[in-house]
Amino acid sequence: MCQDSQSNPPPGYSQVKVSRAFTPSDSGHQEIFQSLRPARASFQIQVVRRVESALDALNFLKGVEKNNRWSKKFVVLDCGTEMAKNLIIGHVRDVQMGRRNYHYLLSGLVMDERWEEDVKEFGAVNITGFRIVDTTRPYVRDFLMNWMTLDTNLFPGAGSNYISAQSALIYDAVTVVAEALTKLKRKKLDAFGESTGLSAPRGMGCDTTDSDQSVWEHGEKITRFMRKVEMEGLTGNISFTDEGKRRDYSLDVVEMTYNSETIKIGTWTDSGGFSTVPIKYTRPVSHRILTNKTYIVTSILEKPFLMLKKDTNATGNGRFEGYAKDLADLVASYLNVNYTLQVVKDQTYGAMDESKEGGWNGMVGELVRKEADIAIAPLTITSSRERVIDFTKPFMTLGISIMIKKPVKEKPGVFSFMSPLSQEIWTCVVFAYFGVSIVLFLVSRFSPYEWKVIETCTKSSVTNDFTICNSLWFSLGSFMHQGIDLCPRSLSGRIVGSAWWFFTLIIISSYTANLAAFLTVERMVTPIKSVDDLAKQTEVEYGTREGGSSKEFFERSKISVYSRMWEFMSSRRHVFTSSYAEGIERVRTSKGKYAFLLESVKNDYVNEQLPCDTMKIGQNLNSNGYGVATPIGSPLKERLNLAILSLKESGDLARLKNKWWYDRSECSKDTLTAQTNALTLSNVAGIFYILTGGLVLSMVVALMEFCYKSKMDATRAKLSLTDAMKAKARLSITGGKDLDNGRNQRSLHEMQWMTPGLQRNYIQGTSKRT
Ligand code: ASP
Repeated sequence: MCQDSQSNPPPGYSQVKVSRAFTPSDSGHQEIFQSLRPARASFQIQVVRRVESALDALNFLKGVEKNNRWSKKFVVLDCGTEMAKNLIIGHVRDVQMGRRNYHYLLSGLVMDERWEEDVKEFGAVNITGFRIVDTTRPYVRDFLMNWMTLDTNLFPGAGSNYISAQSALIYDAVTVVAEALTKLKRKKLDAFGESTGLSAPRGMGCDTTDSDQSVWEHGEKITRFMRKVEMEGLTGNISFTDEGKRRDYSLDVVEMTYNSETIKIGTWTDSGGFSTVPIKYTRPVSHRILTNKTYIVTSILEKPFLMLKKDTNATGNGRFEGYAKDLADLVASYLNVNYTLQVVKDQTYGAMDESKEGGWNGMVGELVRKEADIAIAPLTITSSRERVIDFTKPFMTLGISIMIKKPVKEKPGVFSFMSPLSQEIWTCVVFAYFGVSIVLFLVSRFSPYEWKVIETCTKSSVTNDFTICNSLWFSLGSFMHQGIDLCPRSLSGRIVGSAWWFFTLIIISSYTANLAAFLTVERMVTPIKSVDDLAKQTEVEYGTREGGSSKEFFERSKISVYSRMWEFMSSRRHVFTSSYAEGIERVRTSKGKYAFLLESVKNDYVNEQLPCDTMKIGQNLNSNGYGVATPIGSPLKERLNLAILSLKESGDLARLKNKWWYDRSECSKDTLTAQTNALTLSNVAGIFYILTGGLVLSMVVALMEFCYKSKMDATRAKLSLTDAMKAKARLSITGGKDLDNGRNQRSLHEMQWMTPGLQRNYIQGTSKRT
């Protein structure tokens, strides 16, 4: 065996050349194989192996298979017909070997052999090779008509409508010799001394050790005549070059694939080389479905797919009930066949198992070993299974999901009155409360309309109701919907008040609306809400069922979350269960410390069954389907496929699903489980915007009021605007002052916005005037 490290094949492809007598100068075959490569890339030989027997070659291929199971492999067989045939039959009978990813290229005239049935019965690999006998030619057809009528005792191999390449070549060779002798006899009548009366030619000894070997005197003449023969034979046109090689002959290049009958894909001629012909694949004719045969249907006891009836007197298929049983009935009546339902012996779906004959256990193993004809069960379609058995289109779709124990419902706590609003809203409300109070205080300070003169017998003073304390009190009172004596008089103050009232109105009504639900609902708090939550932690253990596709999914997944979960599971083997029932029981008894990963349809079913203490969380992890399975190449496959599709279209499958899942629900729709969610900030963000807008507007209005009033006072007192503004600003900042003991009301009213100096001037001015 030699390995060509220089020439790497395209990814996923490997070529193996198994040769009995390979020589690198074997360029004729290389040229043809080069044209046969699907990708038309140059033909690269990865491994060349000299083998002694079909078994030897098969063992070698098994080694290749072990190293790289999934890649496509092209095997060039450069050996005799028998050996090639034995190898290929050995391959398809060996269930551990892949089939559809193998493509054999045969250099011998093996395609003339009658072997399709042998190979197809076991699910064929793809084969490309040469055929020399073209059975469509009238000459060959006439020959075969006679060939079929021959007595097989006298003519072994005859009696059928095909002839092997070897037999055809021998037939043609004998015909050529006969033709040559006839011609010779006709032309040179004296050749054997018949008419001349010369002695008959000397005979030759057969003993090769005979030292007295001599050339037969007529040999030369006969070969000359043979070279001149031109005729039609079973193997096509027969004529020879001067050197005695055959010329002007052609070989058909034919291909046999799993999906098609043997078809011609090209022609090879000695003069023109290889040329392709238009290809028309034809579906293999399905073998007849035997209506008088009772087919064995394997299934698994899995609720609600297949269950044993309580009635112990029932016999045969009547012992069972469930979705799979109903489906089997529908399919059998569609195909018009009889069936017996048998439960899979090891109660497993099917995983690779070297210890089992056929390399698979469970229902898949039974199909591979042909112990059953059909599997109607919740058997997931996977790529590894598809390599060894056939699936119909899915009759149900599902995905892997998480089952946990329903958490205990929480009684409302002492602080549950806080629950209707989320924490962030409460925080924002507190900030809004302080913000509003401060803005109210500021605008009241700057707005002249908020100031008033208080006169007593002893003194007069300019005051403002909205001190910081009063502002806080006003905001709190309005928030609690209570009446307070204070009320803003300025426009800006009223804008602040209105915005706040509107805000409190909405917040309080939302709070009240939500409060009732929160005080009465017992809420369920699930510690794990999704697969990410599960993968992140180690406190809650999780696992799958052994011997099924769910385990294989995690084992082969390249998605980081799932491969992390696989690491977790594979390091704790006890998390795997031998059945779904065991896994579900573990969920129920482990007080929330175990989550089971199972297919969603089963999850949904169990959650609807007593004691109603399990639930499904999160989204499905993948998307899969259950298919009806048959051994590879089974004649039932096509019809089963049609049956499933038509049952789907007619709504029968949907009816069955309702019957076995939802109509038999044992759990009442638990209204308490309905989650009541606290209002979040996004629900009420609008009122916060309105409140903020109101506060900003009020500040702008307060500024305008301030400027306007300053301007009026400045005009009246004949002062500059700046002085007037300064006077007002000082008053706003320092607060109200006692005035001149209540002498002149009108003046006092006007003076309320003046600085003490201005007030003094003003007072002096007015006293002079009086
Ligand atoms: N239905 C699955 C299967 O076919 C069982 C599993 O969840 O593994 O293997």
